[in-house]
Amino acid sequence: MSETTRHSYDVVVIGAGGAGLRAAIEARQQGKRTAVISKSLFGKAHTVMAEGGAAAALGNVNSSDHWKIHFRDTIRGGKFMNNPRMAELHAKEAPERILELEYWGALFDRTPQGRISQRNFGGHEYPRLAHVGDRTGLEMIRTLQQRVVQLQQADAAEFGHPEAMLKVFAETTVTELLLDGEPGGEDTRIAGAFGYVRETGDYLVFEAPAVVLATGGIGRSFKVTSNSWEYTGDGHALALRAGATLLNMEFVQFHPTGMVWPPSVKGILVTESVRGDGGVLRNSEGRRFMFDYVPDVFRDHYAESEEEADGWYADPASHRRPPELLPRDEVARAINNEVKQGRGSPHGGVFLDVSTRLPAEEIMRRLPSMHHQFKELADVDITAGPMEVGPTCHYVMGGVEVDPDTGASLVPGLFAAGEVAGGMHGSNRLGGNSLSDLLVFGRRCGLGAASYLDGLGEERPAVDSDVIERLGAEAAAPFEHEAGENPYQLQQEIQQTMNDLVGIIRRGPEMEQALESLDKLRERVAGVRAEGDTVYNPGWHLTLDLRNMLLVSEAVARAALERQESRGGHTRDDHPAMSAEWRRSNLVLSLREDRIRLRRQPLDTLRPDLMELFDREELGKYLTEEELPPADRSDG
Ligand code: FAD
Repeated sequence: MSETTRHSYDVVVIGAGGAGLRAAIEARQQGKRTAVISKSLFGKAHTVMAEGGAAAALGNVNSSDHWKIHFRDTIRGGKFMNNPRMAELHAKEAPERILELEYWGALFDRTPQGRISQRNFGGHEYPRLAHVGDRTGLEMIRTLQQRVVQLQQADAAEFGHPEAMLKVFAETTVTELLLDGEPGGEDTRIAGAFGYVRETGDYLVFEAPAVVLATGGIGRSFKVTSNSWEYTGDGHALALRAGATLLNMEFVQFHPTGMVWPPSVKGILVTESVRGDGGVLRNSEGRRFMFDYVPDVFRDHYAESEEEADGWYADPASHRRPPELLPRDEVARAINNEVKQGRGSPHGGVFLDVSTRLPAEEIMRRLPSMHHQFKELADVDITAGPMEVGPTCHYVMGGVEVDPDTGASLVPGLFAAGEVAGGMHGSNRLGGNSLSDLLVFGRRCGLGAASYLDGLGEERPAVDSDVIERLGAEAAAPFEHEAGENPYQLQQEIQQTMNDLVGIIRRGPEMEQALESLDKLRERVAGVRAEGDTVYNPGWHLTLDLRNMLLVSEAVARAALERQESRGGHTRDDHPAMSAEWRRSNLVLSLREDRIRLRRQPLDTLRPDLMELFDREELGKYLTEEELPPADRSDG
């Protein structure tokens, strides 16, 4: 029988990746009693797995870089679907957040002059990713955790206990948000969160007027993914059930390079740094095929011959970029097509080779994790030959609809930052822009939550005891389902459905079929059975995750069926063109009477001074005639 314990905080942050930790640090620095909750061990989040780096226009390697160029690259990468205010805040504030991280103790790689080194990445005009070899996320998390400890030490001195103001609840899963009214009610506000401790199965109630969602992605709903077991879209589903809205869930990033072999490691990420540091892609005929896939919108910026592309590494000022560094959506579709046309590698990918570009010791220095990963998992030495790679579900651009400045969702007291929030990356995220996003918007969310609390004064939303009892009973229900099915079987069916029918290339009839399958799975998931008891029982935990996976999968499929165009992380075989009319609409999803509703909402327009960063010819490829600036405007 599970025990229930109550805790009371000012701010509860769900998620201890980069966004969650940065939000919690900020909330604490603003004087709020803060709890941070993580489903897995403290320190194990996707942020820790980030390899390539964090994008920020520091201008250390090329002094021509500037926040406006970073902004322009981000909008181009997102195919003009980004929330412009978020992209602006991100580009402006990323350098400050990286320097702050260094001030807190992060040890970035250095340039010969001793400044933070920056590397090339797809879609970024200048070398822009601050990095630590290919283990940047590890250093980011280490530094943020160190900052948490620093704050706790100060609290121990001031309040007599290190956890007086900031406490971490690791291996604790939140299953529901608490409200002080009905979801969607006019005056309904956040009142806290409910969850369980994975080790004991005991329940925890967090009473808190402000909750920050920082739960990361949804990749586990797909069969081939770089995401680990925790990423079942919990934050997205919690937000929907609490009455918040999700934005543009059709935009799912398939990273072009995941491992394809052996089967047990299929989907594990091969960092874009391999291409940033000179790796080239070839098909089974030895052809460097990316030259065949440069779309018109990018043609002016990318090389047309191997000679020109190779020249760029030594002299970027007088050469155009290699096409291997196109945004991820373009490269993923190209690889997909090569394999489909029968020009793939023996295990169903293509070849990625850095061994002909860099000496072995340089590869070992720049890409130590990749060397180790391939040696250990596939018995391939990447200093001596090519890797086999193919697309893998990696990141979701869609997420909770938030106010750009504060991270506030439509539900008072509920905030979101990091991968769980939508809008920032438009239809396709540029590599390196997530790590900087976490720092910029994590901090802003912490500030947003603190100022929301200040506005409340002494008054606090109430937590209903009946609701707590009901949530406990619902969580334990899978043990009562005598004839229920195995959760692992159901998980596998959801993943297969999403991979086959709502994957990298989508078709209307297939998505309708996916929605039918997901609908049938709803009933089966409602009756799923857990064996054993509540003490450290991953099978039971999965029964609770399945509900979220299913809801998020339906959100992706519904939005993908609705958007009849191809853009960024959403490719329709039956609507292959990008449409200027469709660009004007965000797809907003909400939950009413347990069903997902969808509506179109106009996308915010670019301010004239930001519009001036693009020439009219380029704007003409994305915007409607009506949105374009006057033809006689001088191009900026
Ligand atoms: P995460 O770091 O994913 O953390 C989410 C947290 O939420 C975790 O603590 C998790 O336990 C917790 N959580 C989830 N659900 C619950 C729940 N129900 N209850 C309680 N806690 C919960 N981006 C870059 O910019 N550069 C890179 O080089 C890069 N490399 C990457 C490499 C890999 C292999 C992967 C998978 C991603 C990479 N990304 C990279 C993307 C980037 O790492 C992620 O988008 C980013 O780290 C997400 O951060 P986050 O703080 O939003 O969430």
